[in-house]
Amino acid sequence: MTMLRHTLAVAALAAACCLPLRAHADDTCKLEITANDQMMYDKQTLWVSSGCKSVTLTLHHAGKLPKAAMGHNWVLVNGPDLPAVANAGMGAGAASDYVPAGDKRVLAHTKLVGGGESDTVTFSTAGLKEGSDYKFLCTFPGHNALMHGTFKFGGPAS
Ligand code: ZN
Repeated sequence: MTMLRHTLAVAALAAACCLPLRAHADDTCKLEITANDQMMYDKQTLWVSSGCKSVTLTLHHAGKLPKAAMGHNWVLVNGPDLPAVANAGMGAGAASDYVPAGDKRVLAHTKLVGGGESDTVTFSTAGLKEGSDYKFLCTFPGHNALMHGTFKFGGPAS
C-alpha cells in the first residue's frame, strides 16, 4: 500500500514538472496576427524574445473578400526599407504575391492570403540584431499605408 502511494506521487510530480514548461517555451517564439477586409492588422507591435533561434508567424485573414481584391501578406523588413520594398512588391505583381523574388531587403514573408485563409512562415533570427526594431507590412498595392507595424527582437516587450 505504501509502495503504491509512493509510485503515484512520483508519477504526478514528473507530469507536473516538465510538460507545461516545455509548452510555454515554444509559445514565446510563435506569433499570430490577423488581417481583415477593412485593410487592417489587429496588432501594431509584435515582440519575441531574443532567445528565439527561429520565429513562427501565422497570418490569418478574418475577412471574406478574395485574394485578388483584398489579399494580405506579412513582410518583415528593416524600417528604412519599407517604402522601397512596398514599391518593389507592387512591381513584382500578384503572381509573386507582391514580394520581389530574391530581394535581400525582405527578411521574411508569408504568402498572400484571401478571406478565410491563413499562412505560416518560420524564419531564423540569425540575421536579426538583438534589441532592434524592424517593420512589417502588407505589400498588396496600396495597403502598406494602413497595414504596417513594428517587430521587436528582444529588448522591452512593450
Ligand atoms: Zn493587405
